[in-house]
Amino acid sequence: GERIIDVIHKKGITLSFEVFPPKKSQDRDLSIIFGTIEKLVDLKPDFISVTYGAGGGNKSRASEISQFIQTTTNSIALAHLTCVGYLKKDIKEILDKFYSIGVRNILALRGDIPAGVTFPHDAWQDFQYAKDLIQLIKEDGRFCIGAAAYPEGHVQCKDLKKTIKHMKAKIEAGADFFITQLFFENELFYKFMDMVESAGITAPVIPGIMPVLRAKQIKRIVELTGASIPVKLNRLLEKYENKPEEMEKAGIEYALAQVEDLIETGVKGIHLYTMNKARQACEIVKKAGLR
Ligand code: FAD
Repeated sequence: GERIIDVIHKKGITLSFEVFPPKKSQDRDLSIIFGTIEKLVDLKPDFISVTYGAGGGNKSRASEISQFIQTTTNSIALAHLTCVGYLKKDIKEILDKFYSIGVRNILALRGDIPAGVTFPHDAWQDFQYAKDLIQLIKEDGRFCIGAAAYPEGHVQCKDLKKTIKHMKAKIEAGADFFITQLFFENELFYKFMDMVESAGITAPVIPGIMPVLRAKQIKRIVELTGASIPVKLNRLLEKYENKPEEMEKAGIEYALAQVEDLIETGVKGIHLYTMNKARQACEIVKKAGLR
């Protein structure tokens, strides 16, 4: 199991994808997502990340998918892990489980309390922030650790100076690299990176890009991430509101333009939020000349 931080240092620019475990009600077995991953693996990504449902709702599916990536496809799995609602002993068990299935890289997150979920104890008693989880994983010693970065601030902390301070705390706790929240305006990322560099942060920050494939997606994306929508993207969303095929095409073009600009300007990697759609991700990767 290779450490992602070593891969980032070795490569000029990394390529990675995010997938999520499908709901049991949608896909009873995991064969569909495994097929999607195989298509993504054809592009020889440097790693594939697997989201984790805060509170552990999809725990077994998330680890099955990470195991598939790590052992069946021979790519590198970056297993997301959230700490909200867990006790330290729960996290230690999950780390043992991840290690036993071959996972050597973890994206350490706080997560948000999912609607309708209660815990038999104070959800924050052992972990308040992601940095507390990062510290525990660092002490464990077996994993390379990634963390989340927010070019537009976080929905609960829009102050960029504080955001950078919280990022520094993650590094002090043991984070090796960062992946950003999605954004639709590269200028915001570049400004953020200026602040990151001025703060003396040298850990790699990989931008995360999501193609908007359906106009209806956008409301939820904005709710969850607080991402701002540039006028140009807004125009496309309005224009193609009821034309799904054209919207998908425009969404791919928009993301492609972002990726091309990021590559041109110099980034450590490109991380695509695939929404489990391999064809569209492949199109962006190929047209951007990444593979
Ligand atoms: P933190 O770094 O703990 O930040 C949480 C909030 O607290 C922020 O507002 C921050 O500014 C503030 N804060 C941090 N430290 C301090 C401090 N010392 N004092 C005061 N305030 C502080 N969610 C999932 O459920 N599953 C996933 O798989 C998942 N994957 C993600 C992947 C990426 C790349 C990103 C960017 C996000 C992902 N999320 C995921 C969402 C994430 O869980 C939420 O954004 C969550 O609200 C914050 O997580 P964090 O790890 O950044 O938390």
